Amino acid sequence: MDLHTIDETLYPTSRDDLAALRDGDGLMSGGTWLMSEPQLHLRRVVDLRAMGWPDLTIDDAGLTIASTCTFRTLIDGVYPSAWLATPIFGRTARAFLASWKIWQNATVGGNLCLGFPAGAMIGMSTVMDARILVWHRDGTDSLLIPTDFVTGNATTVLATGDVVRSILIPDAALRQPTAIAKIALSPLGRSGAVVHGRRTDASTVVAVTAATDRPYRIEVDSTLSPEAAAREVVSQIPMTAFYTDAHGAADWRRQVTGVLTRQVIGELNS
Ligand SMILES: Cc1cc2nc3c(=O)[nH]c(=O)nc-3n(C[C@H](O)[C@H](O)[C@H](O)COP(=O)(O)OP(=O)(O)OC[C@H]3O[C@@H](n4cnc5c(N)ncnc54)[C@H](O)[C@@H]3O)c2cc1C
Repeated sequence: MDLHTIDETLYPTSRDDLAALRDGDGLMSGGTWLMSEPQLHLRRVVDLRAMGWPDLTIDDAGLTIASTCTFRTLIDGVYPSAWLATPIFGRTARAFLASWKIWQNATVGGNLCLGFPAGAMIGMSTVMDARILVWHRDGTDSLLIPTDFVTGNATTVLATGDVVRSILIPDAALRQPTAIAKIALSPLGRSGAVVHGRRTDASTVVAVTAATDRPYRIEVDSTLSPEAAAREVVSQIPMTAFYTDAHGAADWRRQVTGVLTRQVIGELNS
């Protein structure tokens, strides 16, 4: 849609160009959300794609995903065969309320920055123990875990002038098997609950999103049965974190979180 309050579009090409960010600037990665509804508080759009960040960087540390990397590029990436976890990228994208068309533009960074409970890339980043690199306007950086980055339903730690530069997924996590289960009230509807899982040597890492107002990361002993692990996961999430909206009631979300956790752990055990 046309954003009729916008007077200027900026195309920054270096970090110095980001030093002058101010209130009323709308940072844009893919623009699928930014352009989807009126943004009456914005005066300028800052198109981060002009920064030319490489989408995917593979090195000894793991995988660095530029915030401007689209879902499509992440899914189509060619990864080391030892990285057993990488099918989770495509499976995560399918938990997204969107046709495959939006994968061409929607970005990993944009999804994190919205902080929506149904932000599927938030769940993926949480279960993969990702670190989010934030550039501050004064030239300093922060490295955050997703559960600290997303503070509530559509809220994050980002302040004016903060830019998410990239998301690092560590090599060790990428070598481990992953699984995901999702439920929505209608077949292609917005997720009511999403559970991601990753099997480590001695434990299973579980990330719960969509059911809760912010992401939860819970680690359970891998010797627990799927039923016991599911009980453990649900018991570690405060009752008040499960919320009610048009996509599901809080008590239903809590129940299905247990069901989905059993499915995910069952898949990781098989
Ligand atoms: C049909 C449809 C279905 C959708 N389904 C879902 C869904 O199921 N779950 C969900 O979570 N979302 C959904 N969305 C919302 C949105 O499209 C996605 O979250 C998408 O991943 C956002 O990415 P983007 O690159 O387009 O973000 P943009 O629209 O570019 O930006 C989103 C927000 O993040 C900020 N931002 C972007 N990049 C940065 C950065 N690098 N640093 C700091 N701030 C930044 C922007 O200023 C803006 O506030 C849907 C949208 C549509 C149109």
